[in-house]
Amino acid sequence: MWRALLHSLLHLLYPASCIHCRSCLAPGSPIFCHSCSQLLEMIDPQMRCSACFFPSLQSGRHCLNCKKTPSLYYKSAAVFDYFGPAASLVKKLKYGNRPDLAKGMAAYLAVQFFQLDWPLPDALVCVPIPFTRWLDRGYNQSFLLAKELSYFLKVPLITPLSRASGDLSQAALSLEQRRLLTSQSFKLKRPKSVIGKNLLVIDDVATSGTTLQRCAEKLLAGSAATLYALTFCKTALDMKNL
Ligand SMILES: [Zn+2]
Ligand SMILES: [Zn+2]
Repeated sequence: MWRALLHSLLHLLYPASCIHCRSCLAPGSPIFCHSCSQLLEMIDPQMRCSACFFPSLQSGRHCLNCKKTPSLYYKSAAVFDYFGPAASLVKKLKYGNRPDLAKGMAAYLAVQFFQLDWPLPDALVCVPIPFTRWLDRGYNQSFLLAKELSYFLKVPLITPLSRASGDLSQAALSLEQRRLLTSQSFKLKRPKSVIGKNLLVIDDVATSGTTLQRCAEKLLAGSAATLYALTFCKTALDMKNL
């Protein structure tokens, strides 16, 4: 009873607000108000290219870009397009000191994973962030998502990659500058752990696709067998470059 009272009191003092539109939430409400939760619409994989997840007219097939330049990922996908409440979730997880959101977000990753009907991987891999960023944030959001997803899928999470460089904030770079970031950005620190493995790489958001591409280069150089990538969000821009 005391806990419920304290909870109500806290809501009175600091009314909980929807993390997208900031309208006040009733005590005990989830993180979104009713209207914002209605806007959360998972991407239907049938409407996307199975390799780059870019909108495609030929459902389940490779788009023209992927036919021309095959992706290093056998398949890649995302749960949401990067806008509205889904984008707010990513921003809160990343910049709002809300590591607690990872569990709920990973549940969406799990639902999309099963909807995609992909085979269970041998292991999950998270995208490492630069050390300076980790010091700043206190956690790696991709690691949190992958860790929670590994509980849902009952698949181990491995951390074969480390960040060799990339201290520059990619958000401040143009698309062209991001592409120019060398593959030296990542290092395969545990090569034995990826040999012959089918791996599912997890990240919070795919923007230019360059980061996932750089990870794939290192994992394949270490003789990983097959790569899949699943992100919470994807931007409409340039997913074809995954
Ligand atoms: Zn709202
Ligand atoms: Zn494609």
